[in-house]
Amino acid sequence: MSSDDRLFRSRAEHDAAVARLVETVKNRGGRQLRLGKKTSNLFRQREAHKGGRLEVDGLDKTISVTADGWAEVQGMATFEDFADACLVHGFVPPVVPELKTITIGGAATGIGIESSSFRRGFVHETVAEMDILCGDGVVRTCTPDGPHADLFHAFPNSYGTLGYALRLKVKLDKTCRNVKLAYDTFREPEPFLQAVEAACREGIDNPGTGPDYVEGVAFGPEHYVLSRGWRTDETGPASDIAGPVPYFKTLRTKTTDLLTARDHLWRWDADWFWCSRPLGFQKPLIRKLAGRKRLRSTTYWAIYQFVRRHKLVERFDRLQKLLGRKPRLEEPMVQDVEIPFGNCQAYLEFHWKNLDIRPMWICPVLPLPSPRPWTLYDMPRELHLNFGFWSTVDTREDLAPDHFNRLLEREVVRLGGHKSLYSTVFFEEDEFWQIYDGPSYRGLKAKYDPQDALPDLYQKAVKSR
Ligand SMILES: Cc1cc2nc3c(=O)[nH]c(=O)nc-3n(C[C@H](O)[C@H](O)[C@H](O)COP(=O)(O)OP(=O)(O)OC[C@H]3O[C@@H](n4cnc5c(N)ncnc54)[C@H](O)[C@@H]3O)c2cc1C
Repeated sequence: MSSDDRLFRSRAEHDAAVARLVETVKNRGGRQLRLGKKTSNLFRQREAHKGGRLEVDGLDKTISVTADGWAEVQGMATFEDFADACLVHGFVPPVVPELKTITIGGAATGIGIESSSFRRGFVHETVAEMDILCGDGVVRTCTPDGPHADLFHAFPNSYGTLGYALRLKVKLDKTCRNVKLAYDTFREPEPFLQAVEAACREGIDNPGTGPDYVEGVAFGPEHYVLSRGWRTDETGPASDIAGPVPYFKTLRTKTTDLLTARDHLWRWDADWFWCSRPLGFQKPLIRKLAGRKRLRSTTYWAIYQFVRRHKLVERFDRLQKLLGRKPRLEEPMVQDVEIPFGNCQAYLEFHWKNLDIRPMWICPVLPLPSPRPWTLYDMPRELHLNFGFWSTVDTREDLAPDHFNRLLEREVVRLGGHKSLYSTVFFEEDEFWQIYDGPSYRGLKAKYDPQDALPDLYQKAVKSR
């Protein structure tokens, strides 16, 4: 198969796939619908689905990339394929989330970010137009200021509960050969945070010379690394993200680095950030045996799903009990939160005192000016830091099973921050709708999905329906 066949689909094929999907919605016979997609990066256990499935196989490629840097892409195209389709034409999407199977539609509705987000905003802010198949079976073309501007602005954080994006139009950036990186280590949070802010300011004020990418990793309360990246056509020996040493470890030992533009996009995918560790994939021998192709998030996701499906952790705990050993009590904590920059020091204090999950990814994001608020996820147009941590917290029998997650939710609200909904959520219903603009959501739901063909956001995000 040529790269064009693998990555691109004609408009006629796209239109045919859309027509099939519309028929499914119209003939759903009262059943609620769910996306029938092969990949997912949603981190909550969902109830078994009794309704219908939207088969979206024909909606996962790029339709076109033009010489003036515009892409039309189908909603279920993974960023791996979308980025490759752009790269062959000399472009790159301005914000490419870190995991290869995150799709453009999933990221636009799920608040996608990357280390370019301090200049380029969220994934949804890179989208100029979307075709959304709504719960009422109508496909609407939505733009920031067109007739369905209300739906366009309510799409981020709606998680497929108002409609599914089938086609998106994205303005691209020119690509480069390599990305040059500089890593600076800090032993205290204050100078680290100051350096993050200064790097963002430099990148915003000096496009072309300032950094194009800014992010950080907190390895512990006294160990922070700031990473700044510059697009470059300079050549030189580039490091290998799937080599014997996982990428995140190199931030502790190197002060500069060079990655190819494509490897830079996927630097975190090769080890699922650092979450490949419990699966043994950070051992050089296992890396060698697995081979480069398997060092990617889909491998770890498949293993994780297998463990979950066969309840292997629960079985191991039962075995421990039978052997008279006390199993370790842990509360899962897989979360991303955005905190206004001025409160980030307070967040770090909270984090180390209460959760102490390390390492932690820190990614600056500056929401861009917008003609109207992003209904379900609006933020002041000021610098925020996203803190991402994907692990467990040690807990005790006398604490509620969601004790630490609730603690986190309260702290995020107290600090004026936001919490992504791709993982577990514990807010009470009234609290949830206060945060995520319940009155506007109900109005939009009645307008675009009046017969509840799609689940409600609270039911989906909190009750895992
Ligand atoms: C370990 C981990 C690390 C992560 N790191 C990052 C990161 O670095 N950067 C980042 O941006 N995000 C990150 N995420 C979050 C991720 O972007 C979101 O979970 C995103 O929604 C996943 O998109 P997906 O395409 O895999 O969608 P899925 O997981 O398949 O679906 C997510 C939700 O979006 C809905 N949805 C999917 N496609 C569409 C569509 N076309 N139209 C409407 N609704 C749709 C689904 O119904 C579902 O409710 C991370 C998640 C995890 C678990």
